[in-house]
Amino acid sequence: MAVHSKREIVAGLDDERFRTSFLPHPLPKYSFPRAETDPAAAYQQVHDELLLDGNSRQNLATFCQTWVEPEIRKLMDECIDKNMIDKDEYPQTAEIESRCVRMLADLWHAPDAGNTQGCSTTGSSEAAMLGGLAMKTRWRTKRQAARKGRPNLICGPVQICWHKFARYFDVELRQVPCERGRLHLTADEVIRRCDENTMGVVATLGVTHTLQYEPVEEIALALDDLEEERGLDIPLHVDAASGGFIAPFIHPSVEWDFRLPRVKSINASGHKFGLAPLGCGWAIWREAGDLPQGLIFRVKYLGGDMPTFALNFSRPGGQVIAQYYNFVRLGREGYTRITRECADVGAWLAEQVKKMGMFELVYDGRGGIPGCTWTLKKGGNYPFTLYDLADRLRVKGWQVPAYPMPANRSDLIVQRVVARLGVSRDLAGLLLEDLERAIQHFRRHPSSKSFTARSAGGYHHN
Ligand SMILES: *Cc1c(COP(=O)(O)O)cnc(C)c1O
Repeated sequence: MAVHSKREIVAGLDDERFRTSFLPHPLPKYSFPRAETDPAAAYQQVHDELLLDGNSRQNLATFCQTWVEPEIRKLMDECIDKNMIDKDEYPQTAEIESRCVRMLADLWHAPDAGNTQGCSTTGSSEAAMLGGLAMKTRWRTKRQAARKGRPNLICGPVQICWHKFARYFDVELRQVPCERGRLHLTADEVIRRCDENTMGVVATLGVTHTLQYEPVEEIALALDDLEEERGLDIPLHVDAASGGFIAPFIHPSVEWDFRLPRVKSINASGHKFGLAPLGCGWAIWREAGDLPQGLIFRVKYLGGDMPTFALNFSRPGGQVIAQYYNFVRLGREGYTRITRECADVGAWLAEQVKKMGMFELVYDGRGGIPGCTWTLKKGGNYPFTLYDLADRLRVKGWQVPAYPMPANRSDLIVQRVVARLGVSRDLAGLLLEDLERAIQHFRRHPSSKSFTARSAGGYHHN
């Protein structure tokens, strides 16, 4: 077919989008427009601006879902008018949310999955706030008699949402710093920081910076011992934003969930490995009694009594419907197949990156979130930094972030790929080719930044 067939050009000229007088002018940016605009023209203009956003499928930085089945688009469209909070008007959407809560409680081994408490949220951040608030409320009730002290929360290199929680809700965050080869929480480091004002401990199943799981079971057992020895009963919350939809399927022997009595609440992002479209998170409590009743507001509907616990009021319902669709559509088998395939791509990519010779793997793609994390081998003489490589890959549309680890290892710069559904072995191969090309480029044109970065980093597994 000719690139510009005559018929196409003529058709284009007949099209409103190309005839409108609107096109020669820039879109309004600083003041509210006075006049109306034709919908087709407005659409085209807004649509075109989005070209600059880049391609989400090549965004290997995000943990969030960027590929969905056409059936999900259809359900999202059908639900665009549904408000999650209107349990009264959309009782079936509310029912579907409750089903998802029970199914997740079952997946995560709650002792009485059919009767526990939980809710959907806009993501893990909101779910983390709710989990944190529940811990804080329980702590306050317990410490009422003492009437002193400020609550503290112990964690490792957590996602930003826990820093937000601590600041917004006035909690002291006792973040265990990274040291040498230890890039996450350990039981010893947790126990050393516990006191009577510790409202809880957060362990992360799938640390954002490295993709590795923190040792939830080890921490839970150490907290059990602590209670026996010193009488401190400290709940454990698991931030399983990614891992909550990974471990149950491909790491079934890792005990991180309600199989451990110490784990009182879990959050996960439906829109990450839960494969729902953006805007879906979950918070689930071990038993109904683990969520303080004072935090729950009751919405009476259809003679029933619907508990709600959320930060926002109105919220789209489609994401929850799409999540339920996924559960029905995929089941354990489907999630296991997809997650295994993602993990295989991650591990393969890690091997290839290692073979290139100049990189040290921080995470080899096995035992945690599908993907891999690497750093530059110490002592080498490289004509680039990882930041340069990240920049160079952007030229081909890839987003492969380079960033420092948190304190006290901010000298360690790492680079990370998350292998999501849609990051096929083929795409991963194309990325590797571009990585090789980027390195060749810097061999010919050394980056000036690389000369000041020589003394940086270094990582050795403990
Ligand atoms: C992504 C993530 C969050 C935040 O989740 P959102 O769904 O983006 O709000 C919190 N914790 C961890 C470990 C994460 O990976």
